[in-house]
Amino acid sequence: MHGICLFSTPFYRGSVVTSALSAPVRAILLDIEGTTTPLDFVYQVLFPYARSHAQEFVVRHGASPDVREDLNALREENLEDARRGLAPPALQNDEAAESLVAYVQWLIDHDRKSTPLKSLEGKIWEEGYKSGELRSQVFEDVPPALERWRELQQTVSIFSSGSVLAQKLLFGHSTAGDLTPYLSSYFDTTAGSKIDPGSYERIASALQSSTPEVVFISDMTSELDAAKAAGLQTLLCLRPGNRPQPVSNHPWIRSFAEVCWET
Ligand SMILES: [Mg+2]
Repeated sequence: MHGICLFSTPFYRGSVVTSALSAPVRAILLDIEGTTTPLDFVYQVLFPYARSHAQEFVVRHGASPDVREDLNALREENLEDARRGLAPPALQNDEAAESLVAYVQWLIDHDRKSTPLKSLEGKIWEEGYKSGELRSQVFEDVPPALERWRELQQTVSIFSSGSVLAQKLLFGHSTAGDLTPYLSSYFDTTAGSKIDPGSYERIASALQSSTPEVVFISDMTSELDAAKAAGLQTLLCLRPGNRPQPVSNHPWIRSFAEVCWET
């Protein structure tokens, strides 16, 4: 049985990670933004790309059934936002759907983790990745860690607010090459919110593991709190450019190189 351990390095300051994770680990679950991938790539490259290509994309693909499904769900969400008094851009009966695109851009600006928005963004990014205009970034310790974990026959999965399509595209078109062969499952907001413990219970069950057998690595303590409440083991990932997090008891790492196994 392999056990996961963390070793501390002289570079640690503050709440040094000293304790090994307590139970055998069957599955590693990774967040993307601020964990595998710089926040800057998401906020300075991906979101602006979706924002600026939304109009053209909706005009070209708005009639295709899967895009139409996203757009219809977004219309519903707009009504709900209006009902809640959030004053979203009002929808018109405009032929090129400019008002709906304005609403999409409003959602992007508010960093809304809306399932139909994420679904639409994934489809917009798909074109960018396929044309070579987009290429994703991962931190340099990520590819060697994925390689090492594969050698240890450790399954690695993703849980991100971005759609499963967007996740596969991101790992399939990275500057380090196609990393999808290292990943076994992908979970998005259709599994539930990242701050709902129930989401982590469902994911552990889908991974055919008990919750303590799954370790979740994320840059957000709110997500780690939910995972921990569900019984998962947690690691807070500190990366350059991440947002400051409240003080917490989650062990932390600065690199996936700090996650290792005892044999
Ligand atoms: Mg994150």
